[in-house]
Amino acid sequence: MQVDVLNADELKKSAPVFGQISFDDHEQIVFCNDKDTGLKAIIGIHNTVLGPALGGTRMWDYASEWEALNDVLRLSRGMTYKSAITGLNLGGGKAVIIGDAKTQKTPELMRRFGRFVDSLSGKYITAEDVGMETADMDTVYEVTKHVSGISEEKGGSGNPSPITAYGVFMGLKAAAKHKFGTDNLEGKTVLVQGIGHVGETLVKHLTENGAKVYISDINQERLEEVKKKYDANIFEGKDVYDAEVDIYAPCALGATINDDTVKRIKAKVIAGAANNQLADEATHGKILKERGIVYAPDFLINAGGIINVYAELEKYDKKEIIRKTENIYNTTLEILAKADKEEMTSHYAALKIAQQRIDDRKNRDLK
Ligand code: NAD
Repeated sequence: MQVDVLNADELKKSAPVFGQISFDDHEQIVFCNDKDTGLKAIIGIHNTVLGPALGGTRMWDYASEWEALNDVLRLSRGMTYKSAITGLNLGGGKAVIIGDAKTQKTPELMRRFGRFVDSLSGKYITAEDVGMETADMDTVYEVTKHVSGISEEKGGSGNPSPITAYGVFMGLKAAAKHKFGTDNLEGKTVLVQGIGHVGETLVKHLTENGAKVYISDINQERLEEVKKKYDANIFEGKDVYDAEVDIYAPCALGATINDDTVKRIKAKVIAGAANNQLADEATHGKILKERGIVYAPDFLINAGGIINVYAELEKYDKKEIIRKTENIYNTTLEILAKADKEEMTSHYAALKIAQQRIDDRKNRDLK
């Protein structure tokens, strides 16, 4: 298609960055390229009104650069709202490294990435996400101080996943209370999709609290391991979205609630760790509401990890981390009640409160 024959709307849609659907007034997007190490990364800084943009780095073998760009934009925006709704003085950012973490991640590549982070002088603070380990953050820490989630030996807060899982458990309990009138999970069936760092600990909390847990993962070894450890059941059905369970906990990757799945899901509650679970916030959130399925907003209930890394910056102790994480239970209840009262989706109710906090700060700073 030739540019000179496009009308204004078409031009906007064809705009490679500012025209992306996931572009939501991002402040800055940084493309990082290093031939020597093979690094190709994108840092998305969505909003810094409340503070520096903090968010993890994901390493993933994206099918295309467009997919990577779209992912980083969606994820960094999500971080803005996650920190805002949790009451943290942080903005939203995220980074993606294009490549297979198992075969392409090297200390040299991580250090080079760290230098790019350092070049932003603290406007973006990185941490770990899918494809990253605490050890990788320690490597990044060799070249920049703008990194969190480093190991406890190096003065950091270590792996945030157990706290994330605890927060998800709190949000899941609150959503269960909203739907079933009790947060007692005894005998409730829960399907946990993805039993990685977060999913496994969630399985632990659920089984300890009497839930009957089904697990699903693309990694067969992990399934056997987690099944044995927590007496969980491997989901044997054909498709997880047709599973007859009370609660569905997406803990793998995002967008699992989409055109194909949203009408098939039989669970009455959805509460999990994955970021951006709704492929389309407006459409899929609305269908869930119409179907009477209680959806605990992902960015609200998976905030334990960010609370943990924020503690590293603010020098909070463990007690305060737990207190803030347990508060996810109350916030989830509040948001679900607000959504019912104001006849809006839970996702939108949470976004509205988060946006209000950002706007209040912006207005205060302008005065
Ligand atoms: P992880 O990489 O440790 O685990 C993900 C698991 O999902 C792996 O076991 C993987 O095999 C499995 N998986 C991948 N595709 C799958 C599929 N199609 N079906 C079933 N299983 C599949 O990641 P994690 O740290 O446990 O994070 C899980 C999710 O939670 C991610 O979306 C992440 O962004 C989000 N999250 C994590 C944290 C954290 O503290 N780690 C914080 C907030 C949000």
